[in-house]
This record gives sequence, C-alpha cells and structure tokens, in this order.
Amino acid sequence: MVSSAVRVVLRARPSEAASLINFLPDKKGVSVVQQKVIEGRPGGGQPAAQNYQFKFDNVLALASQEEVYEATAADVVRGALEGFNGTIMCYGQTGAGKTYTMSGGKQSFKQRGIIPRALGHLFAEVKAMPDREARISVQYLEIYNEALYDLLDITTQPHEISIYESSKGQVTVSGLRTAVVASEAEALALLFEGETNRVIGEHQLNRESSRSHSIFTITLELKPVGDAGGDVLVSKLALVDLAGSERVSKTKSEGLVLREAGHINKSLSILEQVILGLGDKNRDHVPFRSSKLTHVLKNSLGGNCRTVLVANVWSDAAQTDETLSTCRFAQRMMRVTCEVSANVV
Ligand code: ADP
Repeated sequence: MVSSAVRVVLRARPSEAASLINFLPDKKGVSVVQQKVIEGRPGGGQPAAQNYQFKFDNVLALASQEEVYEATAADVVRGALEGFNGTIMCYGQTGAGKTYTMSGGKQSFKQRGIIPRALGHLFAEVKAMPDREARISVQYLEIYNEALYDLLDITTQPHEISIYESSKGQVTVSGLRTAVVASEAEALALLFEGETNRVIGEHQLNRESSRSHSIFTITLELKPVGDAGGDVLVSKLALVDLAGSERVSKTKSEGLVLREAGHINKSLSILEQVILGLGDKNRDHVPFRSSKLTHVLKNSLGGNCRTVLVANVWSDAAQTDETLSTCRFAQRMMRVTCEVSANVV
C-alpha cells in the first residue's frame, strides 16, 4: 500500500497578543503575514506586508487536547494494535506548545496530552481483546548534545547507553530501563517520573530541556491465547518532543549555547533529510546514522510506520519569523510518500 509517509498537522497556540496568522476556512491551510522592510522600494525603508500561504493535512486552531489527540494520534495508536509502528513528533520553536501537546498540562484531566491519552487508549483497547495476551512496556529517552540519558533511571550515565543495530537493521537502545507496565496508572506514574527527572536534569545537571529531544517509546506485543490463531504482533510507538527549532544568533551566543544550537540544527536537518530520503525511490542511502535522534527512530520512520508531524506555532506577531520557518519545514514534510505493510513476528 502506498501512503503519505508523514501526516502533517499544524497546531497554533492561543495568542494573547496580535496574531498575523489567518486560518483558511477549509481547516487545511494558513496564511502568514510578515512585515518586511524592503529597501529600494518606493516609500523606501517602510515595512511592506508579505503574505505566505501553506497547506497541511489539518490545521488546529483553538483546539482542545481531545481534538488534537483525535486529529494526530488516535489512528496511529489503532495502527499499533494492528502491528504498525508509529511515530508522533512535535516540532517548533520553544514556547510554541510542543510539551503541552505531547505531555499536556497538569491542572486538569482535560489538559492531558498525547502520551497519557495514547496510554489510556491502548490499555482500553487491549482489555477488550479476550483472545489476545498483551505485553506493554515503556522507555523514556532524552537526547542532549548527542548524548543519551535515561529519564526512567537518572543513575545511568550516558556512556552506559548505546544504540545497537542488528544485521537486519533492527535498532535497540541498550542500557536503557525498559519497564513492563500492567496498567494505565502504572504507565502514567512512569511518565511523570520521567518528566520529573527531566526537570531534575535541567536544574542539577544544567541540561536545558527545551534544548533536548525526548522520546517516550511504548512497545506493544499481542499474542494469541487459547485456540485463537493468528500471528504475534509487535509494534512500537515513538512519541517525540523535539528540541526547540529556533535559530540561535551566532553573534549573541557562545560556548554551551552555541554547541547546543549546533547539535539541534544538525539533528533537525538530518531528520528532514531522512524523511525526504524515505520518500525518494531513487535514493539508496538514508542517513539514519548521522544523528542519534534519527538512528534511535530508524525502525519508527518510513516503511512499516505511520508518522505524524505536529508543527506547533506560536501565533503572536512577534514570533512571525519562527512561525514561517516552522510552516516551511512542515510544508516540505508534506510531499513524502512511502510503501507500508504490517509487522508480523
Ligand atoms: P514548548 O514545549 O514548545 O517549549 P510548552 O508546551 O512548554 O512549549 O508551552 C509554553 C507555554 O504555553 C506553557 O505554559 C503551556 O502550558 C502553554 N501552552 C502551550 N500551548 C497551549 C495551548 N494549546 N493551550 C493552552 N496553553 C498552552
């Protein structure tokens, strides 16, 4: 089956200030107005408005967390129950709402993001399958400056974690805690533990969380029980909160900040090359190994997977340059197609 490799959904964070994003009535596009000073024009030096239009699979403005889950993750989770790997990634500048989209707010049940909802959805579905025995496990990895950190066990040092690739191209991350979870509550407790550890890393170890990628991986194994025939299905869901995509001014930053920015730019640009490479039939080399992020995600992108990119934008007028840059990235991801088939062991 040939399918679009990446489903691209734009989500705009509510804005308190003036917004220069207009949502097109079909809910599939936006137009962004940029005020630019164009030298040499009549009225020289005066800002002129330029209007850019973008089309996506879906555009979510003022959407609830539940609507966002339905529009981005629900199908991917259903796919996992049928043996398809899946990836959902949040991309955008710091402050655009990536973590809010992926993990959600803590104040109320309604604010739960994609990860808690995906866990609830999975446990509810497997409970309703009396002829299948399910084993669900989770891992929580953080990638900061190309080093790997275990968010479920902060005593593990980065040098103890490594990426292993088998001769068949199956990638596993060794040294990372894999927790088998028997219930939604147990899985949620681990998610919160990981989030707390991310904050501890930020304060005690000087790791700025907006400068790191985090990947919450859910592995689902479904075995037939009793007389029920059929195959054992194994699928992986990678739920990825990417590092902030904003460009850091080289003139204003130095040392650690510049090094972080270099790693982020490189890994996001390799992610783009990998996704574009997957959609290009004439390309024999997809550079998965060129960054830790794409190497870890190797079995979760392309081929046997469903991938959703949530492009998070911050609609304030002051953020227009970054909004345009996120829209352009997301637009490039729209054009990729690939072949898909289910995972059977
Ligand atoms: P990022 O992860 O992209 O840096 P956050 O998810 O931390 O951004 O969001 C920045 C702030 O904006 C947080 O306080 C978050 O709660 C709030 N926020 C983001 N998106 C929304 C939204 N859709 N609705 C309400 N608040 C939001």
